[in-house]
Amino acid sequence: MKNTILQVRDLSIVYDTPLGMIHATSGVTFDVKRGESISLVGESGSGKSTVGLAIAMALPPNARIVNGSILYGDVDLLRLEEDERRRYSGREISAVFQDPLATLNPLFTIGEQMTDVLMSNLGLSKEEAVKRAKEFLKKVGLPDPERILRSFPHELSGGMLQRVNIAIATSTEPKILVADEPTTMLDVMSQAQILELFEELKRDLDLALLFITHNLGVASKIADRIIVMYAGTIVEDGPVDDVLSKPLHPYTVGLLNCVPRIHVKEKRLKSIPGFPPDLSKPINGCPFADRCNEASDVCRKAKPELIEVVPGRRVACFKYKG
Ligand code: ATP
Ligand code: MG
Repeated sequence: MKNTILQVRDLSIVYDTPLGMIHATSGVTFDVKRGESISLVGESGSGKSTVGLAIAMALPPNARIVNGSILYGDVDLLRLEEDERRRYSGREISAVFQDPLATLNPLFTIGEQMTDVLMSNLGLSKEEAVKRAKEFLKKVGLPDPERILRSFPHELSGGMLQRVNIAIATSTEPKILVADEPTTMLDVMSQAQILELFEELKRDLDLALLFITHNLGVASKIADRIIVMYAGTIVEDGPVDDVLSKPLHPYTVGLLNCVPRIHVKEKRLKSIPGFPPDLSKPINGCPFADRCNEASDVCRKAKPELIEVVPGRRVACFKYKG
């Protein structure tokens, strides 16, 4: 399709561990359109970060691609040699992660790190890189860019550091930005401000955003589309308003029931009863069957395929026919 910028196809990734293999994602398939903003949601361990890391070409060494492809144009990002990967990573596709300190080197100033990225990824001169770095620090709402450039990471607050990371990630004008829980480690004020910043970036830059969060409230603010993951698979996918107002998959219904409501007094935070399946063992039926109060025999025997029930809405549940 003309508008499609990224095609994730049948992506199955395992992690090799001393205790065996963890099937982190199984047959994950979705498209990202130019300028579209997608939220990947799901409980802890559902495979969100693994998908994000695969797209950002930043999987850890013990991850193994068992099957599938990630096509950026005609190029399969999963099969690039190291030197080719550098043409795409940080340039066409950038990422911002949960821990704002993790990707910054404590021994170098922000200025040195920002200009390094710009000189090596865009081939700018030092002078041009400094100019662009200042411009992007301003864009992400940091006052006094000169001072920020002279600072070391430990001299800035978490919220400021995350702005720096966003400035670095967007300064190369990537086509795709993966943001993996970028507000989770920040204080409440900074969380709200960084979310606002993402909303602005989404408006101002021609950027496809893959925003990973377990918070449906956050997803509803940021996303055009929501993809719900469970046990390494996509269980539902659709436009944000449709998924939130008329969830199709019983798991999505469960997740929505757990969102605290402001006007209702609840004794404690709700969660879906039961636990996700053990990803080191094969799953025969629907991965959600054990926790689903609508499950029937077929759900325990066969795996429901992800089918398009109406254009743009997919669900993996035997309740629905394509
Ligand atoms: P969270 O909300 O907690 O961040 P997630 O949806 O991002 O969860 P992933 O981090 O993708 O989930 O993890 C998917 C599965 O892979 C989990 O069972 C997790 O324990 C496992 N896993 C993730 N990273 C590794 C790793 N480096 N080595 C081994 N197993 C891993
Ligand atoms: Mg994660």
